[in-house]
Amino acid sequence: MKVDRHIHTPFCPHGSQDSLQAYVEKAIQLGFQEISFTEHAPIPENFVDPTPEQDSGMSMTQLENYLKDVHHIKEQYANDLKINVGLEVDYIDGFETKTTQFLNEYGPHLDDSILSVHFLRFDRQYFCLDYSPEAFAHIVQKFGSVSKTYDKYYETLLKSVNYDLGLFKPKRIGHITLVHKFKKQFPCPNRFTEKINTILLAIQQQNLELDYNAAGLFKPLCQEAYPAPDVLELARKKKIPLVYGSDAHCAKDLGQGYETLFSC
Ligand SMILES: [Zn+2]
Ligand SMILES: [Zn+2]
Repeated sequence: MKVDRHIHTPFCPHGSQDSLQAYVEKAIQLGFQEISFTEHAPIPENFVDPTPEQDSGMSMTQLENYLKDVHHIKEQYANDLKINVGLEVDYIDGFETKTTQFLNEYGPHLDDSILSVHFLRFDRQYFCLDYSPEAFAHIVQKFGSVSKTYDKYYETLLKSVNYDLGLFKPKRIGHITLVHKFKKQFPCPNRFTEKINTILLAIQQQNLELDYNAAGLFKPLCQEAYPAPDVLELARKKKIPLVYGSDAHCAKDLGQGYETLFSC
């Protein structure tokens, strides 16, 4: 079955204003049978978004409208396409209680969700991992090296997989090698195979899925999907379900890289 289960919407403050309908029409045109809208959930209220525009997630005041609009389009297109109402939820080290509360409240209204790590913690400070090469350089400086940054990322990712975020914890882990986003500018000498194996084992044991995310293919400093090829191979060996996601932030990107991802 052809699915795209990682799609953003006009509710994304750093995305495009393309309508939900534009995404749906594109999905139908490309022959998808199922899609999930997975907008960035609001970040916890007492978390200070470290990005310059503070636009990592939708605002809490928009959430009800988002759910209402996606439910509406889901019904409107019920005969043509299965549409899931979803969210991409951040795992933020130190904000697990708030995140669990959020999931307990909104989880019952969702058909699908993704748990992603975009923020790294350094003492009491937080950094957005995938914002820009300049911001990444700053993180590397803070952690001391590219390797140490990778190490922190995988450590946070493992926590996200293992943390009990309640009954409505997302079943899918987002873009597991997102730390590779600027790899051509910041090559990493280590492969972290052992750590990645531990993470994949935890994912397998908890029957979680992996977001098979095409976005990295189109980032000039990455040019590979998430998971990266070696991690993908390990995941396949462990028979972890891989769920395609375009991570589209505009309608034309829905389905991007689908053929490439499934030809290897
Ligand atoms: Zn986004
Ligand atoms: Zn993401």
